[in-house]
Amino acid sequence: MFIALDGIDGAGKSTQIALLTRWLTDQGEQVISLRDPGSTATGEAIRQILLDSQLQMHRRCEALLYMAARSQLVEERIRPALAEGKTVVSDRFLLANVVYQSVGKAVDADLLWRLGEIATARLQPDLTLLLDLPAGEAVKRQRNPPDRVESRGQAYMEQVRQAFLLQLPAASPQTAVIDASQSVASMHTAIVQQVQRVRHAHLQQPPDPG
Ligand code: ADP
Ligand code: MG
Repeated sequence: MFIALDGIDGAGKSTQIALLTRWLTDQGEQVISLRDPGSTATGEAIRQILLDSQLQMHRRCEALLYMAARSQLVEERIRPALAEGKTVVSDRFLLANVVYQSVGKAVDADLLWRLGEIATARLQPDLTLLLDLPAGEAVKRQRNPPDRVESRGQAYMEQVRQAFLLQLPAASPQTAVIDASQSVASMHTAIVQQVQRVRHAHLQQPPDPG
């Protein structure tokens, strides 16, 4: 089973992935936790380029670099893990790429979904969890100094938040919005409920022949 967590910076993805990974492990599952972009040598190198605040980059260039990193992640890590029956938990996936590069109509969202199909060869998460937080709350949780994306400000972050809510239904067959203004523990409970719901349905299905 493949689970992706997404949402704006500060929404609590890293915090919740650590808790979810522990919970799944306690359930007896073999869990691999990844981040997109990253989690392969090629992907981490691309990630460094993307986070470099000194670099000028058109949104389309940025979009394709994210797509490239994800191609490698899918083939090198995600597909092999799923084939071995492992549970994959990813910090971001294609949804974030569509959202960040389409905000302000920089790149057409539908085009990004189609590019994403090519990049992932149509591998989708079984469940996408959107950790939804108002931008004002997220800013209060931010670390310093802000990276290239964070430095665009709170109004931009709120636009991104709304784009996440708009695009979420296209991210995977199963999606859920988690209220990220709750406590860490309440968010974890809500996430576990969603995972149990989808995992139950997933276990009823025959294994994917690939
Ligand atoms: P993300 O990975 O989405 O950027 P993090 O998990 O790193 O978010 O959380 C960002 C900051 O907010 C961290 O300092 C973290 O301790 C804090 N935080 C995470 N979840 C909550 C929460 N539910 N309530 C308050 N603070 C939180
Ligand atoms: Mg994080």
